[in-house]
Amino acid sequence: MRYFFSVMRRYMPPYIHQVILTFVFNILSAVFSVLSMALMIPVLEIIFQQDHEVTTLMPWAVSTEAVVNNFYYYVTEIKHTSGAGMALLYSGLFMVIGTALKCGTSFLAAYTSVGLRNNVVRDIRKQIFNKIVTLPVGYFQAERKGDVLQTATGDVAEVENSVVSSVELFLKNPILIIVYLSAMFFVSVKLTLFAFILLPIAGTIIGKIGKTLKRESRAGQDKHAELMGILDETLSGLRIVKAFNAEKRMCGRYAEEAQNLCRISKHMTRRRELAHPMSELLGTLVVIIVVWYGGSLILNGTGTLSVAEFLAYLGIFYQIINPAKAFSTVMFSIQKGMAAMERIDRILMADDRIFENPDGLPLKGLTNKITYANVGFSYDDEREVLTDVNVEIPRGKMLALVGQSGGGKSTFVDLLPRFWDIQKGSISIDGHDIRDYKLYDLRHCMGIVSQDPVLFNDTIYNNIAFGVENATPEQVEHAARVANAHDFIMQQEKGYETMAGERGSKLSGGQRQRISIARAVLRNPDILILDEATSALDTESERLVQDALSKLLKDRTSIVVAHRLSTIRNADLICVFHEGRIVERGTHEELIAQNGYYKKLHDMQNT
Ligand code: ADP
Ligand code: MG
Repeated sequence: MRYFFSVMRRYMPPYIHQVILTFVFNILSAVFSVLSMALMIPVLEIIFQQDHEVTTLMPWAVSTEAVVNNFYYYVTEIKHTSGAGMALLYSGLFMVIGTALKCGTSFLAAYTSVGLRNNVVRDIRKQIFNKIVTLPVGYFQAERKGDVLQTATGDVAEVENSVVSSVELFLKNPILIIVYLSAMFFVSVKLTLFAFILLPIAGTIIGKIGKTLKRESRAGQDKHAELMGILDETLSGLRIVKAFNAEKRMCGRYAEEAQNLCRISKHMTRRRELAHPMSELLGTLVVIIVVWYGGSLILNGTGTLSVAEFLAYLGIFYQIINPAKAFSTVMFSIQKGMAAMERIDRILMADDRIFENPDGLPLKGLTNKITYANVGFSYDDEREVLTDVNVEIPRGKMLALVGQSGGGKSTFVDLLPRFWDIQKGSISIDGHDIRDYKLYDLRHCMGIVSQDPVLFNDTIYNNIAFGVENATPEQVEHAARVANAHDFIMQQEKGYETMAGERGSKLSGGQRQRISIARAVLRNPDILILDEATSALDTESERLVQDALSKLLKDRTSIVVAHRLSTIRNADLICVFHEGRIVERGTHEELIAQNGYYKKLHDMQNT
């Protein structure tokens, strides 16, 4: 429960006014509810023809005595002037008004608490997304995507239920119980004391059932995440699944997980369903015992309790059962919600391993050089992917990386924008370690075009202007022209306003690539990183893209990972990567003259 309170303290404060309103409306609703119940007493007395006549009007005051007395006075008056039937009608009318007020305030209470819970849930949603965006790339390596999706959707829903329950637990049920109990004491102290002993006993038994459910709820959520993962994988790889006739296999995997979830969920829900009949049975038992005891009080004829009072008492007692009973369900969903909140916190509290220096240096742009000195890096702290890498890239020069796939080229370029932090050596820009700069500034001076261009399901215009604030339409068009993209964009149905489709699926590979180049052109970065930007293209688009790239590269500091050596012939320095080390370096001519690894690659591509 301590965790629960800390969660509440985190999210409730901005909505304290809604908490208070819910509280107040619930009090009003409980009071009106008791009032309309209490009005049953005179109604029943009239029906049973028990004379309870009051002939003197007391001065009005805020005391039950005065109110009750004067109410009876008016009932007596009406009875005498218009007859018992009329008195019954009036009393009934009062009951209706009382009930209407009760229902109205109870709706208002629900109305404000709905606002409260939706606000809290929205805040949590935003927090999760903000966190996901700031977490380093590496985090999503360790956490499966399905888990993250499940947390951002299913777990948030659990927390929502939990918030609803907590409103009932703290702002509603206690009020109802207190108000009803006071009313019951007012009617009969003896009977209430008697009932008082029974209720907690019944409550504890019911509460016990909900206890063991927390662990099971977690297992259920995990299975759910598993399903999400498979679904996501299958959707993004649907073409491959079909091409390899693997539908059956995927279905089998999914069915297996679905079966697991089904089993756990059945078990859990059945146990929860058990709570209802159990509590109903116990509730009835309690009522019967109370009826028996109350009945014997009346039959004794001691005059402590009239039949009408007893019936009204039972009415109130009946009302108290629900909030008392609700405790078990409420506790159950709070526990479930807190289990979900723990998973949400696993994301929210995940440390950002890429450490942002709070008073980082500003970085306006590259003035001198980029230096990799003795760099060593490993993804998993076990196998080194880069070992002892030393390179210097002076401003305005082009560094090209070639070599077998898996050699560490992509890793090398990913280190510069700090998608990962290195374990050994240092990477610096203009003499300062890149970790000393503001992360925003560091990334701001880079433009990246990768092999697999990332487009968002937005207009082409917005995809180009992505990450550049206040871009004008002229600038966007200029960028598109430089990237050889303008012509094909204009051929689209809606030109720049055409939607790119999910992940740019409505465009060809070459078109996507040219849009991502236009994005880099518009950004006009000091440092340009191209990671096999052309290797996925056919010859025709490659020519267009290559042309666009050479315009982009002109007079810029760049690191180019190339698959085809022809594209980097003019590089100022070429480094050959092999198993995480730079095994050869030099210009094209020097490397050919060395007659080593580069020469072999070159010969292979030219035959
Ligand atoms: P290249 O771009 O030269 O083909 P990479 O830099 O992509 O090579 O990969 C270098 C090595 O690092 C490979 O052995 C690869 O398996 C490993 N690797 C790449 N990315 C990751 C990652 N995110 N997690 C763990 N290992 C990785
Ligand atoms: Mg690569």
